[in-house]
Amino acid sequence: MSPIVIAGGGIAGAAVAAGLARAGLDVTVIERETGPTDKICGEFLSPEAQDYLGKLGLDPADLRGHQISELALVRGGDQIRTKLPFTGIGISRRILDEAVLTHAAHCGAHVLRGHRVISVSTEGGLAIDLSGMGQIRPRNLFLATGKHELRGQSRGTASRNDLVGFKMYFRLTPTSEAMLAGKIALVLFRHGYAGFQLVEGRKANLCLLTQRAHLQNMGGDWRGLLSDLLAQNPYLGQLLTGAAALLERPLTIYRVPYGYVYRPSPSDSAQIFRLGDQAAVIPSFTGDGMAIALHSAALAVSCFLAGETASAYHQRLSADISGQIKRAGQLYSFAQNGITQMAFFGLAKLWPATLSFAASLTRVPLQARL
Ligand SMILES: Cc1cc2nc3c(=O)[nH]c(=O)nc-3n(C[C@H](O)[C@H](O)[C@H](O)COP(=O)(O)OP(=O)(O)OC[C@H]3O[C@@H](n4cnc5c(N)ncnc54)[C@H](O)[C@@H]3O)c2cc1C
Repeated sequence: MSPIVIAGGGIAGAAVAAGLARAGLDVTVIERETGPTDKICGEFLSPEAQDYLGKLGLDPADLRGHQISELALVRGGDQIRTKLPFTGIGISRRILDEAVLTHAAHCGAHVLRGHRVISVSTEGGLAIDLSGMGQIRPRNLFLATGKHELRGQSRGTASRNDLVGFKMYFRLTPTSEAMLAGKIALVLFRHGYAGFQLVEGRKANLCLLTQRAHLQNMGGDWRGLLSDLLAQNPYLGQLLTGAAALLERPLTIYRVPYGYVYRPSPSDSAQIFRLGDQAAVIPSFTGDGMAIALHSAALAVSCFLAGETASAYHQRLSADISGQIKRAGQLYSFAQNGITQMAFFGLAKLWPATLSFAASLTRVPLQARL
């Protein structure tokens, strides 16, 4: 086993593996999935994320995603349309994550699939328990296992974790497909919001977040939630008329820890670097979670190669992105409250530039980008 282990081969883990391997280091990525999988995500690849992929040597244009340059903000029967100040890409995580992991392997990283990191302990030196392989003792661990805690590596509480996410792909009718082409629809509804956009192959991704209590009120399942959403939003209802669901059942996620930012403490292990959602989780309507994951990977590579400590890396990362995550949390709370939601919508209707401004507040800050 390599002296450097990366737990999790999602976008953050694969990117850090590619960066370290390109610098000539011996690294192994451990990914529990045996092959490409669907993931719950709105699948909007922001320009910052595209930039980071380019710097890794991966051209996002090669992924043949769907170009998105317009935003439709939808509330009930009303909507505001505005040009985005950038072009995003709709690309499924099944394609994207696999491309980054394959790229890491081309850069020289070893990729071990189908094994799960069960637990990590640091007492008596770094030790990792792996399914089917027993214990390994690498010199360093880059922890990139996503949103949820890993045994032995608890990380404090998020500002909220009462949220439930769903994602479903649809094949739309040609008329609806033409209506959605080039756009991301951000749909505000009571107790939540949804993103709707096309990805490669012109599949439509409907990804939504709601409060657990609302889900229970809607009968506790996707069907009840979706029919309530369609009843509240004629635009979405129109787009989904005649659409065919492409997954047997939606992907779901519980307890999304929005607002979480890892704060280093003096008792931290100097050998463990946290990346991506293990380091910070931004509300998903911003479409910038993958950019944060890629930023954390680029920063971790730069700090590690410069011989900086894990704690110095965590401090820099938290300084880079805490403001962005806080502002996204405030916008999220705004959007959840009926009165402020209405006020924000009214303002954006008068000045659509409000939307571009709000979007700019939730990006990885320019001065932090590597
Ligand atoms: C509802 C929703 C919508 C979103 N929409 C967007 C969007 O449109 N645009 C955007 O930029 N961001 C979006 N995000 C955020 C984005 O999905 C995350 O920020 C991003 O996936 C973080 O990448 P990661 O590599 O840290 O984690 P992940 O992508 O979750 O990758 C973690 C990897 O680790 C593997 N793994 C997990 N546990 C283990 C283990 N024990 N052992 C081995 N392997 C393991 C997993 O299989 C996975 O491949 C959204 C998030 C949510 C919840």
